[in-house]
Amino acid sequence: MTPVGGTSQSAKKGILERLDAGEIVIGDGGFVIALEKRGYVKAGPWTPEATVEHPEAVRQLHREFLRAGSNVLQTFTFYASDDKLENRGNYVAEKISGQRVNEAACDIAKEVAQEGDALVAGGVSQTPSYLSGKNEAEVKTIFRKQLDVFVKKNVDFLIAEYFEHVEEASWAVEALKESGKPVAATMCIGPEGDMHGVSPGECAVRLVKAGASIVGVNCHFDPNTCLRTMKLMKEGLEAAKLKAHLMSQPLAFHTPDCGKQGFIDLPEFPFALEPRIVSRWDVHKYAREAYNLGIRYIGGCCGFEPYHIRAIAEELAPERGFLPQASEKHGNWGNALSMHTKPWVRARARKEYWENLLPASGRPYCPSLSKPDDWGVAKGAAELIQQKEATSEQQLKELFEKQKFKSNK
Ligand SMILES: [Zn+2]
Repeated sequence: MTPVGGTSQSAKKGILERLDAGEIVIGDGGFVIALEKRGYVKAGPWTPEATVEHPEAVRQLHREFLRAGSNVLQTFTFYASDDKLENRGNYVAEKISGQRVNEAACDIAKEVAQEGDALVAGGVSQTPSYLSGKNEAEVKTIFRKQLDVFVKKNVDFLIAEYFEHVEEASWAVEALKESGKPVAATMCIGPEGDMHGVSPGECAVRLVKAGASIVGVNCHFDPNTCLRTMKLMKEGLEAAKLKAHLMSQPLAFHTPDCGKQGFIDLPEFPFALEPRIVSRWDVHKYAREAYNLGIRYIGGCCGFEPYHIRAIAEELAPERGFLPQASEKHGNWGNALSMHTKPWVRARARKEYWENLLPASGRPYCPSLSKPDDWGVAKGAAELIQQKEATSEQQLKELFEKQKFKSNK
């Protein structure tokens, strides 16, 4: 199978046309984590002003995902709601403006999408307003500001992603649906359900009833855990006799030890997660299992780099009939290693070798699993009330004390 180039002159098929026809749609990977490591995003606010400050960095990452096989380029608008851009001392709302960040994100994604067979999805995510107890009308107003930009820039469809509470996710879907464009909705939940204890099956049902055509999970958990959650969502939809396309975009980090809150609860989050990164061969397994479960929108979230997306495209190449451009530089299951000078490395040029390898971490004094923080705070807790001013020294001191107390228990 030879890789195919991207430029398709014919009009692109929409997201629902593709999924309704049974096609596999490959999503993209994680922007905030990748661009943080490259020096363009600050961990903490995780906001996407790089679209204005460093458009070339955002453009390049989109281009790499496209070459790797992504059929959807999500606008880099994660946490780009106005309330997040002015939260806890963030300067972006005042100095740049949410509108400019969102407009630039659309322009960049659209420019790169034209280089191949990719659609552009405008994305919204959970808001500080919801966590602070604002009501439905107030939270929907926040989503509509981003939606106005997506409509003006005429993106292909919309994604409400990274929601811990199904109530807020449903409000997002309802607001996005006002545009008439197809809406996908993914929650960052595991098998235990949302932060208020709503089961994955019930979450899926509520999202479809709110108007989502595609539902699933993203972020917070590893591929295995996400697929367990997806199975519960699928069963919930079947029991309610509802139809929707399924979508999964997990982390590229192994998280078997996570609690309900996902990887942000792990002590390694976010600056020491490297030992947990999944290999491209783990992604082959994930892509196959997702496909077998009936998921047809398969992508990744934090930690997913272009080579992980290429692994999805390579695993599912027999079903799709083509390889992505980036496979020109990658032999199937490592077979390009047959060109290596060293004989023992040439001996690794086969599927059985990589499929059965148990990679070592090289860290003899490290545990293989950690204990999640498990502070157990959800919407309604006083510590989740957000504020415009920067977190004060006193506020930090109280948290440091609480952390010491918790870890000594
Ligand atoms: Zn993520």
